[in-house]
Amino acid sequence: MQKHNFSAGPCILPKEVMKKASEAVVELEESGLSLIEISHRSDAFVEIMETARSLALELLGLTGKGYKALFLQGGASMQFLMVAYNLLESKAGYLNTGTWSLKAIKEAKLYGEVLEVASSQEQNFNHIPKNYVVPQGLDYLHVTSNNTIFGTQLKSFPKVDCPLVCDMSSDIFSRQLDFSKFDLIYAGAQKNMGPAGATLVVVKEDILGKVSRQVPSMLNYQTHISKDSMFNTPPVFAVYVSMLTLQWLKDFGGIAAIEEINTKKANLIYSEIDLNPVFSGFAAKEDRSVMNATFTITDDTLKDLFDAKCMEAGINGIKGHRSVGGYRASMYNALSLDSVGVLVDIMSDLERKG
Ligand code: PMP
Repeated sequence: MQKHNFSAGPCILPKEVMKKASEAVVELEESGLSLIEISHRSDAFVEIMETARSLALELLGLTGKGYKALFLQGGASMQFLMVAYNLLESKAGYLNTGTWSLKAIKEAKLYGEVLEVASSQEQNFNHIPKNYVVPQGLDYLHVTSNNTIFGTQLKSFPKVDCPLVCDMSSDIFSRQLDFSKFDLIYAGAQKNMGPAGATLVVVKEDILGKVSRQVPSMLNYQTHISKDSMFNTPPVFAVYVSMLTLQWLKDFGGIAAIEEINTKKANLIYSEIDLNPVFSGFAAKEDRSVMNATFTITDDTLKDLFDAKCMEAGINGIKGHRSVGGYRASMYNALSLDSVGVLVDIMSDLERKG
């Protein structure tokens, strides 16, 4: 049965990527060997790593602009501490827009003073704070571009006189931005890029090496840069699948082309949420995420019917996160407009039954 996979992450990846990835686990390009049994120092894998790193920079429009792309381990959560370890000398600013920002703040406090420049916590993170002032002289400002759990997304980014660091885990490669405004971008692979196990870090080299503390080798961005992201054994499968997905995106027409479809998908579901009295959106309209749509059902008596219809149609992964409740439809790059159409048809059918 065809499934429509709205999972928040790990999540849907392109079918053809999955097919190639599974073939490579058996045998990598007629080499007689599996992708996961060859040395990471082999020519074949070094090429895979280099292709993945250069595709990431190319798709973001950052080739030749002083950035390095790294595939690290430890998830985006490891970046919460690596960012602070490598960049926080005295004081950093954090925009608090959700659970993941809070976790980043908690880690950064281990290394220096943390200023919360603005927060939407009191409204359970249902919007993005606006009109706040970022003081001068910070070591960096950290923002989360898309709040996976709450379904909010930054539509514009603060102008700052310090390095701008962004957790882009759940919307990287989904929309066009001037990525050169950021000095460090990180993202766990398991949304728009690949399987869990690799984390992409794109860092502008000239912001590094400025803190006075000793940084352990594994946590030091400069170590990984100097070793071309091969300081230790990289997560070979996750890097390979990321490379395939980035190649798929490039062949598709890059971020501009996927953004067009992502916008259509988001418009389709949000217009249903707005028109249909059975459903109510969670996030403030102007801050709605194009990746994760959060909503609740207004008439509880229809919940069981909705859940049953979704199950019958092969819809997977729309249960909301416990801190929001209700539903969350995650619509990452590989999810088709048709899949969103299937969900929206069920939603509009429910209005007729209500
Ligand atoms: N940041 C954001 C925005 C996320 O959505 C997630 C995971 N869903 C994380 C950080 C944590 O990522 P990881 O599980 O890779 O540590």
